[in-house]
Amino acid sequence: MTARYETTALAIKKDDFGYCCPTCGRWIRVPDSWCHWCGQRIEWDAIARDRYKEERNQRRTHRQ
Ligand SMILES: [Zn+2]
Repeated sequence: MTARYETTALAIKKDDFGYCCPTCGRWIRVPDSWCHWCGQRIEWDAIARDRYKEERNQRRTHRQ
């Protein structure tokens, strides 16, 4: 029943800030571990992870 969700799939890059689910094609956000629409487990490439880290640092700086 959960077999499908145990396989991770690499997020598809749509543009600089957007990624979509490789299974259902809907928008997903870094750093979601799975697609909220279909439950597909998502794997992020290094570029996406770095970008998320940058954004998180900027947000933290902005708040404080
Ligand atoms: Zn999906």
